[in-house]
Amino acid sequence: MALKAKTKEPRRVHLDVWQGEGRRLYGDNVATWKFRCPSCGHVQTAMDFKSYGVPIRSIDTRLAFSCIGRSIAELHPALPVAEMWGTDLGYGCNYAGGGLFRINPTVIVFGIAKETGEEATRPVFDWADPLPTGGSHDHQPEGRERSGEVNGHPEGP
Ligand SMILES: [Zn+2]
Repeated sequence: MALKAKTKEPRRVHLDVWQGEGRRLYGDNVATWKFRCPSCGHVQTAMDFKSYGVPIRSIDTRLAFSCIGRSIAELHPALPVAEMWGTDLGYGCNYAGGGLFRINPTVIVFGIAKETGEEATRPVFDWADPLPTGGSHDHQPEGRERSGEVNGHPEGP
């Protein structure tokens, strides 16, 4: 059941929905939101980037986009950063979201960019933790559950 096709279409989610997911999982402090590298599984937060000395202005472009291992390799070359698809030795891997292999599983949709007239999106990592299902103030805009239920309502009017 854990098999996932590598060619799976990314999950598309609007920015406000995505931010809502982050808040539900981790609270209002974005610096503590946790993201999992799709290549090596290493979990990163903005605080982690900061603690390895990544400048604040650079964190925004790397967070949830490239594995923190890339930043660690740049700033701390002695640490054992794994190759892409490698085993996380505690410092992540060299996966880059903008590189040749793009496997970020979620796409944030910002809307239409005024400058280009095109849809602005950003591919990102998945959350490090599973999204809570159900809940009291559940307002999921898309029903993405396609589990092949057979005991639901019969088709037809
Ligand atoms: Zn990684």
